[in-house]
Amino acid sequence: MNGYLWQGFNYGGRYTDSMDRYCDMMATCLASPNGLSDYRIACNDRMLDRYDVDGMYIDDNLAYVCTLQAEHAHPEAAYDCLIELHEMNWKRRQSLRARRPHAVLIDHCARATVQPVICDFDAHLYGEGYTFPSLEAYWAQYGAFKGMDAQGCLWPGGKDLDRSATEVAYNYDLLGGGGQYMYIDWRLYPEKFAYAAGVAKDEVPILRAYNWAQYGFGMYESTPHYFAESADLFATDAPGRRATIYRNETWGDHLVVLANMNAEAEDVALTFRSPGRLGLQPGGTYAVLDVNAGECRRESGDELLRRGLAGGRVPGRGLKLFHLRRLPDDGPRHLWGGKRIAERRDASAGVLTLELQGPPGSEQTVIVAAGAEPNVEVRVDGAPAPFRLDPSRRTIHGAVRFGPAPVRVEVSTAGRDPLPEAPIPPGGPPRR
Ligand SMILES: [Zn+2]
Repeated sequence: MNGYLWQGFNYGGRYTDSMDRYCDMMATCLASPNGLSDYRIACNDRMLDRYDVDGMYIDDNLAYVCTLQAEHAHPEAAYDCLIELHEMNWKRRQSLRARRPHAVLIDHCARATVQPVICDFDAHLYGEGYTFPSLEAYWAQYGAFKGMDAQGCLWPGGKDLDRSATEVAYNYDLLGGGGQYMYIDWRLYPEKFAYAAGVAKDEVPILRAYNWAQYGFGMYESTPHYFAESADLFATDAPGRRATIYRNETWGDHLVVLANMNAEAEDVALTFRSPGRLGLQPGGTYAVLDVNAGECRRESGDELLRRGLAGGRVPGRGLKLFHLRRLPDDGPRHLWGGKRIAERRDASAGVLTLELQGPPGSEQTVIVAAGAEPNVEVRVDGAPAPFRLDPSRRTIHGAVRFGPAPVRVEVSTAGRDPLPEAPIPPGGPPRR
């Protein structure tokens, strides 16, 4: 050996960050035959033995090309360390399995998203939030492998101007399977931390709107029909306008994501090509709810399948969510607000009983498709609740506060008077 055993080479060899004054790191090649990886694992073991660690984030789990061929005795001049990176990740996984089996192991992946590099992780942070050049590029690099059975994560923007803005990050998330949006706590305090500059004031309402929508629809029990793989099922009408449709396998509801990837606001519409394969049926009546606006209308199944879904104006790099539920008879049915855990209708007693769950402490508008009987009474956990009738949208709705256990909502025809009237309040993120 005529040189050094190891040398940092990424980021010019040294990485510091103004956000964290303790961050002063060297990056190097773990393929270096010098015991560095064993030393790192021994440090991990010691940390796990001494502290109550419940997860680890591994930055830059990237198969970079090592430039120190002679010093590291690499077989090729440009050596990508795939085998050694896998070995290191596997050893770390074994260390966690032995000492802290419940701990979550997450990496930042971007380069070589292949099994040897990323298979040892529970979750992947896609590209650390750097703006994907296009939706198609995002799908080609991250979306299509669907996390390889791990959880995919997206970041919104940070101190770097080239990271995704919050709203367009939700386009990637909701067009690409949902549940990937990940948050960093300092973003909640843009006035306290200088590096959170650029975090929009309406970020919390946006997060709440899109996270609650996914929670309430039940993404975990749904089948996605992705924009990139569904040309035979449905179509949007122009480049940059994309849709993904989720079908809830428990309830048969659909959530349609209509996204505009273009910079300016545009009208986005969708036509169905094989509605039967999406689980949409002709005949009958569908309640169609524009989740963001709180607009609800009824359409016959025949009309819906023939005309498709006209989404109206969608903001530049924004999206709209439409919830579709087929109404099986003229009784009331839950549409939106909270996660529907159970729904029972006793037609002879004139009672619809719902069990709904929401994040504890949250308050959401619960929307129910009104039945044929106009005089109803609504009780929440047994107590009369001030629900309102929106006659033009044929819905009843009211604010419900959620706690640790599911809330029981009863809609009965025991009411002697019609409910007071009021329009559904908008439920989506603030308009920009
Ligand atoms: Zn090397």
